[in-house]
Amino acid sequence: MRQQREQMVTQQVEARGIRDPRVLAAMRAVPRHRCVPLPSRPRAYEDMPLPIGEGQTISQPYIVALMSELADIQGGERVLEVGTGSGYQAAILAELAGPERVYTIEILPALASSARGTLTALGYAAIHTKVGDGYLGWPEAAPFDAMLVTAAPEHVPQPLLDQLAVNGRLVIPVGPEGLSQILRVIERRPDGRFVSRDVIPVAFVPLQRERPPADPSPPR
Ligand code: SAH
Repeated sequence: MRQQREQMVTQQVEARGIRDPRVLAAMRAVPRHRCVPLPSRPRAYEDMPLPIGEGQTISQPYIVALMSELADIQGGERVLEVGTGSGYQAAILAELAGPERVYTIEILPALASSARGTLTALGYAAIHTKVGDGYLGWPEAAPFDAMLVTAAPEHVPQPLLDQLAVNGRLVIPVGPEGLSQILRVIERRPDGRFVSRDVIPVAFVPLQRERPPADPSPPR
């Protein structure tokens, strides 16, 4: 697996232009195969997304590396991930920022609990995990120096902008389900302005919303 992982880094990640040595080291360190369900393990290092259950997918290695590089984490930053999924991206962020600096939110309880198990088994128990709607961010832990969203909303959630630290970066796929999503990086400048740039077209699962509680007194 170590050899397959090395090939993944050189042939998929470095070959496509990822240069940040800290990101490359993180991709070499985290055992991606331990993050995918057993039937998918033989394909864990291939150049593709893989199913992780509940209709969700773990992103292709290159996309994980690209989002991590765009987040520009030097170590010690406070980092939020929306969409824990398998826990793989969270483990990469833990390598970059330190596990106790990483906060990750998953809306589906079954995935959140299996990711929790994986992260503990891999030595990243200090990562903060919770079940909830990541559209709302994690206000108690804000502000965040870097935020990664790994499911696509149709517009950038205002709560995430509000929770972005000055000089912080939000890396987020935006757009309707299908082929017209774009990976966007939004920085919060010291003067308060948000400056955004679009990087590449991407295809993420849609960001789901928690359904509001049912109206206790429906009209008669
Ligand atoms: N980062 C993950 C891949 C995630 S796939 C990994 O490395 O494996 C996207 C995930 O976002 C799915 O698990 C999905 O359930 C979750 N998700 C969708 N909408 C969400 C929301 N509003 N808040 C938190 N998680 C959400």
